[in-house]
Amino acid sequence: MKFGGTSVADAEAMTRVINIVKGQLEDHPDDPPPVVVVSAMSKVTDRLVETARLTSVGEADQAVRLLRELLDRHMGVASTLVGPAALAPLLAAVGKDFDDVSALVGRTALLNDVSPQATDTIHALGELASSRIVAAAFAERSIPAAWVDSRAVLVTDTEHTAAMPDMDATCRKTGEIVGPLRKAGQVAVMGGFIGATPAGATTTLGRGGSDYSAAIFGACLNVDEIQIWTDVDGMLTADPRVVGTPRLVPQLSFSEASELAYFGAKVLHPSTILPAVAKDIPVRILNSRRPDVAGTMITADGRATSGQLTALACKRNVTVVDITSTRMLMAHGFLRRLFEVFERFRTPVDVVTTSEVSVSVTVDNPRRLEDIVSNLVTFAEVNCEPDMAIVCAVGENLRADPTIFGRAVNSLDRIPLRLVSQAASRRNITFVIRDADVPEAMARLHAAFFEA
Ligand code: ASP
Ligand code: MG
Repeated sequence: MKFGGTSVADAEAMTRVINIVKGQLEDHPDDPPPVVVVSAMSKVTDRLVETARLTSVGEADQAVRLLRELLDRHMGVASTLVGPAALAPLLAAVGKDFDDVSALVGRTALLNDVSPQATDTIHALGELASSRIVAAAFAERSIPAAWVDSRAVLVTDTEHTAAMPDMDATCRKTGEIVGPLRKAGQVAVMGGFIGATPAGATTTLGRGGSDYSAAIFGACLNVDEIQIWTDVDGMLTADPRVVGTPRLVPQLSFSEASELAYFGAKVLHPSTILPAVAKDIPVRILNSRRPDVAGTMITADGRATSGQLTALACKRNVTVVDITSTRMLMAHGFLRRLFEVFERFRTPVDVVTTSEVSVSVTVDNPRRLEDIVSNLVTFAEVNCEPDMAIVCAVGENLRADPTIFGRAVNSLDRIPLRLVSQAASRRNITFVIRDADVPEAMARLHAAFFEA
């Protein structure tokens, strides 16, 4: 069970976590107890990033003041949740972590520089503190719990601030350290996001890395399910800013989640759950404010109702670039030449459609468009159309049910479809339309597939 920053934001949020974990233990008394992975309390990592920045410019006093504020916040939460007996050792442990980092900040600021290694030690403080507090709060409420230092378990390479796990070594340590606790009926409480090199230097997995930690530990322990507790009910059938009443997606495949993540529907970043998907372990997104909502389950295969799409997504304000050349007819090398121009100006293209003599692409970031066009016009005719949008219908069922495509197109009757594409994966249909038509198009697709 992984709880994100908002789910451990303060004493109230942590109390909800306590109740959720209690509920899990009571409802499944015969299962091994859950392993709990927590993020830093909400916004804490941002403050620590600022602390590292201040350190790097020699502002030790300001950096240390920031650390004091953070320590106060943690102390406040700790003393709300933990009774007098357990509070002293907890505050001593959290206080020592902060003291160590303050000392490091003082030393490092003198150099007017902060090494990636020192940066990670600073950034790691949030997860260290939150996990210590949650473990103590569990014990206070008679949940059998043990704090585990993730740095002793998650073994990474030395790529500080974006470290990669060594899965074999990590699984070995997980088995050695977390395994026996589970067997003894203890809830292991661990910080996400942080690990250490084989030599013991603290590392972090990159921002948002706690989901990754949960997937890594879950994969090592071969758990039945990984739960990502957050502050939304799960993935929605469409962006609520575009479609009035989207539904919750009960289940989707890893690939569908990846398609949707590209469009910003990222409750979690799919790549972070790869270790779980590789082991066929389902990942469930749940809302810690509304624990009774079933949430969204992500599995390797997904399983939507037959004849249905899984979700819709859109990307607004893209530019369509049409590139036409009679020389393209029967010629080879034209596409290479064309895409080389986009490569040279580091501009990704999203949708690509072709005819015999023309290629149309969409570009999300128009920053280098002028340069791109002036290069393309040396060998082709170019036409740009701004204010367009990509509407994307995602569903594994597109593969099995050929009628979905037709139904989707029909639902868009009389809305001009500028480009239409279905890739070989046949997991999505992409329409490029005028941006002004997006609300209408999304509403109609949503009505046709999710409101029937
Ligand atoms: N606390 C880290 C961050 O804010 C990791 C996480 O929350 O997943 O990026
Ligand atoms: Mg997060």
